[in-house]
Amino acid sequence: MGAVYSCRVGSLCAEAGWSGHPGNEDEGDEEAREEVADEDTSKKIVSKNIGVKNNHHAHDEVSSSFSNRYSNLLDENGALKFVYSRSCHRSCHKVKWFFHFSIKVLYNVNAIPIPPLDCRLKKMENKVFNSEQVIQEFESITKDAKRVQIETLERILKENSEAEYLKKWNLDGKFDPQSYSSCVPVVTHKDLEPYIQKIADGASHPVLTGKPITTITLSSGTTQGKPKFVPYNDELTETTMQIYRTSFAFRNRAYPIASGKALSFIFGSKQFTTKGGLLAGTATTNVYRSPQFKKTMQAMQTPSCSPDEVIFGPDFHQSLYCHLLCGIIFHEEIQIISSTFAHSIVHSFRTFELVWEELCSNIKTGVLSARITAPSVRTAMAKVLSPNPELADKIYQTCSGLTDWSGLIPQLFPNCKYIYGIMTGSMEPYLNKLRHYAGGIRLLSADYGSSEGWIGANVNPNLPPEMTTFAVLPNIGYFEFLPLGEVDMGHMASPIEPKPVGLTDVQIGQEYEVVVTNFAGLYRYRLGDVVKVIGFHNATPELQFVCRRNLMLTINIDKNTEKDLQLSVEAAAKLLTVEKLEVLDFTSHVDLTTEPGHYVIFWEINGDASDALLKECCNCLDKSFVDAGYVSSRKVNAIGPLELRVLRRGTFQKILDHYVGQGSALNQFKTPRCVGPTNQKVLQILCNNVAKSYISTTYG
Ligand code: AMP
Repeated sequence: MGAVYSCRVGSLCAEAGWSGHPGNEDEGDEEAREEVADEDTSKKIVSKNIGVKNNHHAHDEVSSSFSNRYSNLLDENGALKFVYSRSCHRSCHKVKWFFHFSIKVLYNVNAIPIPPLDCRLKKMENKVFNSEQVIQEFESITKDAKRVQIETLERILKENSEAEYLKKWNLDGKFDPQSYSSCVPVVTHKDLEPYIQKIADGASHPVLTGKPITTITLSSGTTQGKPKFVPYNDELTETTMQIYRTSFAFRNRAYPIASGKALSFIFGSKQFTTKGGLLAGTATTNVYRSPQFKKTMQAMQTPSCSPDEVIFGPDFHQSLYCHLLCGIIFHEEIQIISSTFAHSIVHSFRTFELVWEELCSNIKTGVLSARITAPSVRTAMAKVLSPNPELADKIYQTCSGLTDWSGLIPQLFPNCKYIYGIMTGSMEPYLNKLRHYAGGIRLLSADYGSSEGWIGANVNPNLPPEMTTFAVLPNIGYFEFLPLGEVDMGHMASPIEPKPVGLTDVQIGQEYEVVVTNFAGLYRYRLGDVVKVIGFHNATPELQFVCRRNLMLTINIDKNTEKDLQLSVEAAAKLLTVEKLEVLDFTSHVDLTTEPGHYVIFWEINGDASDALLKECCNCLDKSFVDAGYVSSRKVNAIGPLELRVLRRGTFQKILDHYVGQGSALNQFKTPRCVGPTNQKVLQILCNNVAKSYISTTYG
């Protein structure tokens, strides 16, 4: 297949304000992507009509007409070779109408040179935040996603051509996608680990990048049980700021905020120095420590209400307490409540339920609790805390008047506009609780990224959190997508390994594993996340997060992902509401020590449920795994009855403490949804804290 002219036709439609043929707008409201193979050149025109309901007839005609007539007008990058000639038009009036606009706009689009990333970022840094300008910039790069991807790859490969790793693959000065994918293999973290270790040990030559790596990121290590080392550099800070600005621009257009403060539950992790003298910490810590972070937050009118000493305090329990205290002190100025992941917002308000009286007392007297022992934090808090009996009484009255803490957030923060954090994927189970605290305040789900770098921004803030999509920013890395087939699910040997496709070649409705090439030395790196393509924003795909690829419950021919587990838990947890109880958190494990093996689900509940009810929950869990492989295996007892183990209160706190002790940060914490044999420490915490257990009788 030749080059893909990603979304030129569709983006033109949008830029020209075209929304299908006038008068036909409601003829078809489905997916908006058409692919038409050009017979002569085998080039493909991929088109998409953005942000509007699509008209299939008009769109078909437009695409095929465009493809047939105009393939000779485009060079291999999709740029227009010569300007529209009137004699080319077809008799159909809507096509003429479309061409009139599209060619005009196509010409204009290609006339806009896209400056390199660093120039664009500098330009933004020097100016006051301007949402419309940021949106315009985003529209421009996403319309030209294919070209931007080619340029981004070229830049990454040129900048790092002296690196040992790239030299090994003999690119011989070729920086195009075809040469890249034929020379450089798709890899996992394990393949790059020896190179990253060399960097951490202080190698003096360029190993993965041209410029030396000076910082190492510790991934949260949720899946494997221990954090991974990932290279980090200033480019990743820049791309983080670009993602923050982009989604904020769209968010602020939909839900504008005035100047104020954010109650941000953010925490610096422990940092340490590697053998080679490099600083290592979590990705968010690297970002929070960068001067750009503060500048960007100021520009976005969302500076944290807490002093830096609280964010970077040595103990996250103390930091969390002080975040809550600062939030109350500045309660009228708080416009946004946020964290990286929704878990930490829920965790913070659960903590509030336990410490609110102590917080009130601190505010009344102006004396900070003795539980805050870190001198740096005490000194910083002394500057914001002074006796305020009036405020203390007000908060006390408010909290005393609440039933079940429902609507706590709007009661405490009357000017809060929205709650912001990642709410998708493994965060979805916390949404119920978050909604409970949020009352009527809007929940806006944040962007998609990882310690390895960012991938996409949420540019559709109107969507409910469960439906959030992420538009990939084509200039922050080079992205490929490994199609997920029926045969290959990653855990079994597959005879045909599917080939990754480029960013603009993905298909709507298809699931893929994300493969990243970034500015910090990762080349064709499998991220391990499964995403689904939901649509396109201009020429760049909009992804939905599906699950971690290797987080799967499987014993026999069954395959249950973390999403399947979540649905099962949701169904069974509903039963608890009759006793006014809820599942605080959950995880799972495949127990192969029994014959046959069976699924174990661990629950922590916020009270004592009756045995009869828990037995019913256990049966419901078993019944709710509807995967055909599971059901058939259960029926013939190739998989044993599911076991529900109820944990003592505080078990998940112990797991959180364990991860933070390993160098993770509270705001990056994700409960491991499936605890495998490599994660012995967490398994041990779980098994040592079982209060009761139940065996399913669903299949007799
Ligand atoms: P970390 O190890 O802390 O870098 O976590 C990165 C991982 O968090 C990603 O690989 C995803 O699995 C998950 N993640 C990040 N952003 C999102 C999101 N917006 N929705 C769902 N999961 C996400």
